[in-house]
Amino acid sequence: VENILEVSHLKKTFQIKSPDGKKGLLKAVDDVSFTIKKGETFSLVGESGCGKSTLGRTLLGLYPPDRGSKILFNNEDITNISKTNRKNFARKAQLIFQDPSACLNPRRTIKQILMEPFKIHKIKNGEAKITELMDMVGLPSRFLDRYPHEMSGGQKQRVGIARALALDPELVVCDEPVSALDVSIQAQVINLLEDLQKQLNLTYLFISHDLSVVHHISDRVAVMYLGKIVELATRDELYENTQHPYTKALLSSIPDVSGEVREKIILTGDVPSPSNPPSGCRFHTRCPAVMDICRTKEPEFKQTNSNHFVACHLCTK
Ligand code: SF4
Ligand code: MG
Repeated sequence: VENILEVSHLKKTFQIKSPDGKKGLLKAVDDVSFTIKKGETFSLVGESGCGKSTLGRTLLGLYPPDRGSKILFNNEDITNISKTNRKNFARKAQLIFQDPSACLNPRRTIKQILMEPFKIHKIKNGEAKITELMDMVGLPSRFLDRYPHEMSGGQKQRVGIARALALDPELVVCDEPVSALDVSIQAQVINLLEDLQKQLNLTYLFISHDLSVVHHISDRVAVMYLGKIVELATRDELYENTQHPYTKALLSSIPDVSGEVREKIILTGDVPSPSNPPSGCRFHTRCPAVMDICRTKEPEFKQTNSNHFVACHLCTK
């Protein structure tokens, strides 16, 4: 299978100002490399603030990456995509947001909201297409005259999905697409995303903190901690042959595939600030398996078998 996306040495640094006025740098994404294959669901998991949303947005050209980063989309270099090219690229790569209420204009009807992409890109026959889109996401077309506040959270997220699919994208970045929804609605939206993927040959970059949802939907999974990918593997490898102590801790809170509860690993200490990450292995301040070397030497991101990459001194000796 061909790669749709090839990311190498991606970095994204923000200038920040602390409350006492000091300037600093926040390396939200710090030297991350991976590829996404056409048609797969590639998930990024980690606690909030680990850089996963920034990574997703940088890939879509919403933030310029740092120098030295490289992003290929269908073999085309899109690292420094200019404004005009971004518009073109935006047809092929779209974002579904976490909170549908926050990104649907409350003063516009669903019809107006869904017509926007067609207007921006000067595409005719939008009207016919939006009726089709409503059908695809399981909403009756009479909802086209409604306003967002007249719909439930799940219905609004279906509108968000319809809008993202309006221009037939190839890649969809789903940033916590069900986190704001009631648990009872989450499964419906996940199933819809899976059906649409099959029907439309979509590739998903799925961003989530929820390891149960990720297990359900992913082909491959990357675990992020403080701006870095610490483990990357096929779904079954990651969940059944977990290598990195951080991933083990994250997984210990959910039942394993046989339904048994894993040994609970409680991480002590707060997540350190990404503007001042710990030396050596960034996880060393919270790692239950920490060794002397971990405090000074950063572990390399190494392949441990054909489907598995890990950055940990324990696993890559
Ligand atoms: Fe823990 Fe050391 Fe591995 Fe980091 S390198 S995860 S501190 S054992
Ligand atoms: Mg986020």
